[in-house]
Amino acid sequence: MITRTIIEPFRIKVVEPLRFTTREHRVDALAAAGWNLFGLKADDVLIDLLTDSGTGAMSSEQWAALMRGDESYAGSRSFERFEAVVRDLTGYDHVIPVHQGRAAERILFTEVVTPGSIVPNNTHFDTTRANVEHEGAVALDLLCPEGRDLALDAPFKGNVDIEALEQLLAQRGERVPLVLVTLTNNSGGGQPVSLENLRAVRRVCDTYGKPLILDAARFAENAWFVHEREPGQADRTPRAIAEEQFRLADGCMISLKKDGFGNIGGLLAVNDSELAARCRNVLILTEGFPTYGGLAGRDLDALAQGLLEVTDPDYLRYRARSAAYLAEKAWAAGVPTVMPPGGHAVYLDAKALLPHIPPHELPAQALAAELYLEGGVRGVEIGTLMFGRAVAGQADTPAPNELVRLALPRRVYTQSHVDYVGEVIAHVGANADRLRGFRIVDQPQWLRHFTARLEPLS
Ligand SMILES: *Cc1c(COP(=O)(O)O)cnc(C)c1O
Repeated sequence: MITRTIIEPFRIKVVEPLRFTTREHRVDALAAAGWNLFGLKADDVLIDLLTDSGTGAMSSEQWAALMRGDESYAGSRSFERFEAVVRDLTGYDHVIPVHQGRAAERILFTEVVTPGSIVPNNTHFDTTRANVEHEGAVALDLLCPEGRDLALDAPFKGNVDIEALEQLLAQRGERVPLVLVTLTNNSGGGQPVSLENLRAVRRVCDTYGKPLILDAARFAENAWFVHEREPGQADRTPRAIAEEQFRLADGCMISLKKDGFGNIGGLLAVNDSELAARCRNVLILTEGFPTYGGLAGRDLDALAQGLLEVTDPDYLRYRARSAAYLAEKAWAAGVPTVMPPGGHAVYLDAKALLPHIPPHELPAQALAAELYLEGGVRGVEIGTLMFGRAVAGQADTPAPNELVRLALPRRVYTQSHVDYVGEVIAHVGANADRLRGFRIVDQPQWLRHFTARLEPLS
């Protein structure tokens, strides 16, 4: 029998109750939070699509692995198991555990990036950009032209603009200490990078003698899209494709809160022994001894197990399908999204849905707030609240896009949860002309979207 339904490839052993609230309760809760969704208590949220980072459900084998954790300060068996799994997957000689992805960024950039450096990437994730800029360097996005067109449906919108990379290295190569590629491109809508593009980046790096480092938080989702979309890759397993991705580069940083199936954790891995020794010294200074790197031994065991599970084709098929299914619900309701849907999230296009709200009145925030007020669904604004620049005495410089990201935690919500979110989107979409914008009443200087306080415009 051929079935159409792609079912969740797991059943449920432990449950966590959801708390239902009324619209009146949510209005009070959001007002008390300064109309900022980051200020809400988790108990006041029904379906939490704020992020897919560290919010996944561990498997029974991961919970079992926790019990095998060896908490020895030095030389722990858990580290040996973690190191073996990571070496096997990536092929890199030196495996350095850290407490989460941005710690790997800080350690690597402290060692290789200097003031005036230029660090190219398809698109820097926000913490990656901040850590590059913290070293006094320039974080340069060299995304392919298709990637910049939100509505275009193309298979590999995370690809690097190879010509632009070549030009950068030819003209200002002495300022470039390394080349980064982010798999999948999180800030660009969770779009994948093709193997062909990664091979081309490798060739350019070889020509100019530059190391290539992957920011590989979603390496398995990327491998799945390569398997599905890239000519000649359909017969290879996601695991084999993931192994090749890593072997095209000289090292990687991974936030294991994503495709590591971990609630916390990260790693830095490189082939260069001398660089690894320097990074381990910084690690000891800021994270911990090299056989635990700021994590408990049991975390390392659970993460090692997670890395073995995440390339399972049944899981990845279900994962990609979940995001596409949610996007189809939005389209059916006439709510446009970034195309095609990414691996970990659906990005609603508030600029297209709410043309009556200008960017400085924060249309994506208006949409995110209404999804919460109407249905208790929490997403995140990715627009002028997050990326607009506040200049004293002037209106904000608007962000290029006004998006609401609905990120799907791994193995947490079922199809009926997604159906419910689809209904909420449809209801909000049908009443879009009634939504009103917001005004910022109080904001910090940096990363304002986390703590700003707002006021609804009447
Ligand atoms: C999440 C993420 C990071 C940072 O990782 P944390 O674990 O949140 O510190 C870096 N790069 C990408 C692409 C990410 O998605």
